[in-house]
Amino acid sequence: LSDRLSGVLDKLTKRGALSESDVSEAMREVRRALIEADVALPVVRSFTDKVKNRAVGQEVLKSVTPGQQVVKIVHDQLVEMLGSDAKPIDLDAPAPVCIMMVGLQGSGKTTTTGKIARRLTERDRRKVLMASLDTRRPAAQEQLKVLGEQNGVDTLPIIAGQTPVQIANRAMTAAKLGGYDVVMLDTAGRIHIDEPLMVEMAEVRKASNPHEILLVADALTGQDAVNLATAFDERVGITGIVLTRMDGDGRGGAALSMRAVTGKPVKLIGTGEKADALEEFHPSRIADRILGMGDIVSLVEKAAQEFDADKAAKMAAKMKKGSFDLEDLAEQLKQMEKLGGMSGIMGMMPGVGKIKKQLDAANLDDKVVKRQVAIIQSMTPAERRRPELMKASRKKRVARGSGVDVADVNKLLKMHRQMADMMKQMGKGKGLFGKLMGGM
Ligand code: GDP
Ligand code: MG
Repeated sequence: LSDRLSGVLDKLTKRGALSESDVSEAMREVRRALIEADVALPVVRSFTDKVKNRAVGQEVLKSVTPGQQVVKIVHDQLVEMLGSDAKPIDLDAPAPVCIMMVGLQGSGKTTTTGKIARRLTERDRRKVLMASLDTRRPAAQEQLKVLGEQNGVDTLPIIAGQTPVQIANRAMTAAKLGGYDVVMLDTAGRIHIDEPLMVEMAEVRKASNPHEILLVADALTGQDAVNLATAFDERVGITGIVLTRMDGDGRGGAALSMRAVTGKPVKLIGTGEKADALEEFHPSRIADRILGMGDIVSLVEKAAQEFDADKAAKMAAKMKKGSFDLEDLAEQLKQMEKLGGMSGIMGMMPGVGKIKKQLDAANLDDKVVKRQVAIIQSMTPAERRRPELMKASRKKRVARGSGVDVADVNKLLKMHRQMADMMKQMGKGKGLFGKLMGGM
């Protein structure tokens, strides 16, 4: 959660029921976090109202602080509004199943069409035919053809001069004759929503009777998200949303806006320009991202990619049990560069704003990291497993052995203690953090 919100929540330490003013103050920060994440204003309002209703008067559970409880309510409400389960593309219909892609120009329709087609072909072993209905942009049909060639997916032969509806009809007929399982229709967009676009989409829909109509939208879509989603849903009728450019800086507030106004699920997210940069939508992760909270799930996944899976599982278990020793810290430090430095690691963990600031202040560069690893390596195995053994004489020995001052040894031990405490806290099953940890 953002530092500011942590600050407000730290103040909520009273026991008993959550009071109106406790919750109101916290909601001001939540509102700010949502607006920073580009959530549309009416959605922000209805969201904070819902959270307030849910929170005020709620008994504070014994095992958590009021602050943690509010965070949990906010997070749960966000996940609920985003749609609690990831919903895959539905292909449960007689073949050929038609998937129609709609959206504004440049939103990523053609790229996403290629990504989905590739995935259905490679992973799900479906026979897929793609067709570009974009007769407006000169090279659009060509672009899809190239994507098809690169990814081993068939595209409908291009015939000049046909209308979108004619192409759609031809695609459906070709798919039936050719024994295709899926037809993907990549449509034309416009810079803005306009009447001709909506008429064209409705006509294509009538001609091809799609089983899925996916609205493709840029994750950076801000306040427009509501109009965009409403227009496409009312005029064309969408069955789901794909959010592209989630690899960028955007916090993805558009997901909440569009889901809230249409009730249609976000099915997939685009995370890059490459053909395999397509991921399932995980409401809990996006909720953390929208709130500006660290994403513990991503951390563990990223760690699992970089370390071997075994080590990551052991680390997660240790974090849960709260037995994070200096051996583990050394391992973490060694892997740090791969993971984008200490700030990178800490930035992905929830509730570590304060520690992260200290680390940043300590200017933890490569040299420091090497020195810290050297300090740990100068300890005996017993000392690494039980840092509490490190009394003055041992500290002096280790400092000499690794060529540093005793103060450096102290600093390292302090950092380890903070990390271990934090991990124990998260692993205790308390509130949101415990839930996230428990789900790993
Ligand atoms: P269309 O006009 O809706 O068909 O949009 P395109 O599929 O042609 O995409 C427009 C641009 O956005 C291209 O340069 C794509 O490579 C890029 N793009 C699409 N999806 C993503 C994504 O998930 N991440 C990033 N970084 N770029 C994307
Ligand atoms: Mg296109």
